[in-house]
Amino acid sequence: MRMQTNIAKVFVERFSPGEDIVKALGALFEQEGVRFGIVSIIGAFRQAKIGAFDFEKKRYEPFLIEETTEILHCTGNISLLDGRPFAHLHATLAGHDGHAKGGHVFEGTIVEVAECVVMVFDGEPPERVEDETTGLKLWAL
Ligand code: ZN
Repeated sequence: MRMQTNIAKVFVERFSPGEDIVKALGALFEQEGVRFGIVSIIGAFRQAKIGAFDFEKKRYEPFLIEETTEILHCTGNISLLDGRPFAHLHATLAGHDGHAKGGHVFEGTIVEVAECVVMVFDGEPPERVEDETTGLKLWAL
């Protein structure tokens, strides 16, 4: 399963303190008509809701980090979920001791400062569909 595309456009955005990163990206996608691409973010989160997918239970197990963390890297892809643009985001975050934690990023992750680059691709984005084996919504390519 593979497809090929080209870079169509790049947006550079600085998100504001207090914004929810998932909602802020959703608003950017809606305003600019972004449906397909990748996201790269560095900065700091005021609060982070992240977690990993439990493949036995077939569900995510999120946890909350209620202190400011450095966003070492928050990366993701943009495709369609239920017909709407969706950012699948992962982050590696570090506290003041330098120790890193990371995971899938959920709504409820709040920006302190965030510099974001969105690279938009040409063509039709992949659609996420339910994968019976994992229970995840994966790309149908
Ligand atoms: Zn994920």
